[in-house]
Order: sequence, then structure tokens, then C-alpha cells
Amino acid sequence: MTSTQQRKIRQTGCDARFDNLTRQLYATDASIYQIEPIGVAFPKTAEQASLVIRAAADAGVPITPRGAGTSLVGNAIGEGLIVEFSRYNRQITNLDLEKGSVRVGAGVVLDQLNDFLKPHGFCFGPDVATSSRATLGGMIANNSSGARCPIYGTTADHVISLEIVMADGRVEKIGPSHQSLGDQRAKIEKLVRAASAEMAERWPPGLIKRWPGYGIERFLRAPNNLTNILAGSEGTLAAIFSAELKISRLPGEKGLGLIFFQSVAEAMQATVELLDLKPAAIEHIDRPLLDQTKGQLHFQAARDLLELDSKRCESILIVEFYDDAAERLSILQSRKIGLRTKILTSGLVGAQIRSFAFDGLRRRSKTGGVH
Ligand SMILES: Cc1cc2nc3c(=O)[nH]c(=O)nc-3n(C[C@H](O)[C@H](O)[C@H](O)COP(=O)(O)OP(=O)(O)OC[C@H]3O[C@@H](n4cnc5c(N)ncnc54)[C@H](O)[C@@H]3O)c2cc1C
Repeated sequence: MTSTQQRKIRQTGCDARFDNLTRQLYATDASIYQIEPIGVAFPKTAEQASLVIRAAADAGVPITPRGAGTSLVGNAIGEGLIVEFSRYNRQITNLDLEKGSVRVGAGVVLDQLNDFLKPHGFCFGPDVATSSRATLGGMIANNSSGARCPIYGTTADHVISLEIVMADGRVEKIGPSHQSLGDQRAKIEKLVRAASAEMAERWPPGLIKRWPGYGIERFLRAPNNLTNILAGSEGTLAAIFSAELKISRLPGEKGLGLIFFQSVAEAMQATVELLDLKPAAIEHIDRPLLDQTKGQLHFQAARDLLELDSKRCESILIVEFYDDAAERLSILQSRKIGLRTKILTSGLVGAQIRSFAFDGLRRRSKTGGVH
């Protein structure tokens, strides 16, 4: 980057770093890729984000918005200027319990939001496994979701409105109650309608989750709502500065059913047979993952409870229920699926069992086994 380009970016007043250490720190994310950026900017306000993005555009420098960098596919790194939203934009405001909504800065971390909402009896539904790091800006841009996707859907389903910074520095509010960007909406609607038949064929109704990408099928259902296109756009259309989000009531009653199988194939088939019970989540643990907990003090109580050392199995399904859990667990038990079933109602043990899955996921992602 030339010194003139750097000066233009610094003149915006935004905290921006071009030193080697910062560039190396932001050259990686949770993916296998590495690209050294020319610098990193840390805007504190929408105005600063606007000025810095405009200055980068004027200098011919591409920008990559970034949250916590936990994305697995290399979309939080880039060769231009990284615009980092997680350092300063962590404000949570406008909690409205009657409407079931809250406003967050793009850098608010999911656990931070849930800690804030819990005393009020609410939570943010989509539960990414990286909840201690992932930012709401990154979750919206990736349209993230977690194990409880069957009941909560994905992040896009929870966005009411967004405050965004466009590539030319304009700050806009988008959502059903905002009339901004009329030309863009009309153009997108035309494109989306032209592809509607192909979309209907490729994405059948009822598909709960597909990987990120522009939410064109969501836009087709609600043409006036540009948040549907922004959610899943991976930072390619605009930077998200803040968001108004829908929040959900915390579940009343919870219960876990564990089903043990002699093969992974049987476990996969059983998930289909369980859907009518409307589980909040079904998670799968296979033998390689279970074996990693062997000899670890932290997991011994859970291993004993599941009788893993005395009764061999190749695969376990963890089936979680919210509300009417006892009734649905008893139906599950009566179906006699797999080798055996275990019902857990203690939250503490349940949390430890679920951490089998997450701990294993982390280990595997380090070796590139999970994508
Ligand atoms: C062990 C592990 C487990 C995971 N589990 C899950 C899971 O259960 N479910 C799931 O969906 N994902 C999962 N992920 C992927 C990732 O954690 C999530 O997608 C997360 O929501 C990304 O948030 P982030 O703040 O880290 O975003 P980043 O990685 O920083 O960015 C992700 C994308 O969003 C864009 N972006 C970030 N902030 C903004 C902004 N303010 N404005 C515009 N664009 C922005 C970036 O340019 C990039 O394209 C997992 C990753 C790991 C490593």
C-alpha cells in the first residue's frame, strides 16, 4: 500500500494499523487459508466505518469486514483492508420484551447477548458452537445456526432491521419498515423473479438450512426486505454496523434422550424416525469422538453414566426436547430404537454429555476433519 493510500485512511480519524504484527494477526481465521492484508481498521462509529470504507474505495483498496474470525472457509481474510467490527461495537440497547427485540452492535458476541437476555427470560435462538467468540455481525453475514436449527431456524430468520455501510460509504437502514435503496430492491426483485422456477426446484419448501449465500429465496418470499439478501452475503455487499434482532423466550422444561447404536448408518436412519417428536436438536457422536474422552478425568463421570466402558456402541444420538419433554421422552423410550436408550433430566449431566460433541468438534476442526 502506498503511503498516500495509508494517509487517506488515517485521515478519517478511524483507528487503523498497518504494522507487520497486526497484518500477521489478521492474516488468518479459523480456515486453512492465509492472506496478509495491507492493514486493519477498527471503526468505533457508523460514521467512522463509512469514512474508512469510502477512503479505501477512493484508494482502490478492497475491504473485508470481519468479526471474530471463526469462519471456516477463509471469508474473513483478504488482501485489502480488514474492517474489524468486534473491538469497539459491543453495545446492546433497545431491549423490548413486549415486542421481543433488541439492538446489538455488530461486534456483540453471542454469549454476551445471551448473558444479557437470560435474567429477562429470553435468549437469541440460533446457537453456533463458537458462541463464546462469534459476533452477531459475523453470524448475520454467514447466516449461522446451530444444533437447535429445527426450532429456531437460522440467524436470517431473526433479523428485523440492519444498519449497513455500503461500498461507497453510504450508511443505510434496511428492513421491512425502511424504504431505502429502492433502485437496488427493484433490480434484485427482477433478477430473483427470473430465477424463481430454478430456485423452487433446487430448494424445496421446508428446507431448514442451506449453506450461506445471498438469501434470494427468502427475498422472493418477502421482496421488500433487503435484510434477506444481506444475511448470508459473507460481507460482499455491505458492512453491518448494527442490527435489530428478534429474541426468543427461554424454554421452560428441557430433557435429553440418548440412543445407542451399533452403526452410524442406523443412527442416521433413526433421525428420520424421531422428527415427528419435534426435537429441539439431534446431535450425533461416533466412536472416534467417544474414544477421545477415554482416560480424561473431566469426562469420566459422563462415561460411567453412559456405561461406555462396559457396553460397546459405535454411535450415539443425543436428542434434546424443550417443553412437554417428559411426555416426548417416554414416547421415545417406548419406540425401542437402537441398542438401548437412556433418559437424562439433570441439566448438569446433560451439559457434560453435550460437551462430548463440542469438544470433539473442536479437536477435529484443528485437524481439518469438520467443515
Ligand atoms: C469449532 C467451530 C465450530 C463452528 N460451529 C458452527 C456452528 O455450529 N454453526 C455455524 O453456523 N457456524 C459454525 N462455525 C463457523 C463460525 O463460527 C460461524 O459462522 C460464526 O457465526 C462466524 O462469526 P464471526 O464473528 O467469527 O465471523 P467472521 O469469521 O469474522 O466472519 C464471517 C463472515 O462474515 C463477514 N462479516 C463479519 N462481520 C461482518 C460485519 N460486521 N458486516 C458484514 N460482514 C461481516 C466476514 O467478511 C466473513 O465473510 C464454527 C466454526 C468453528 C471454528
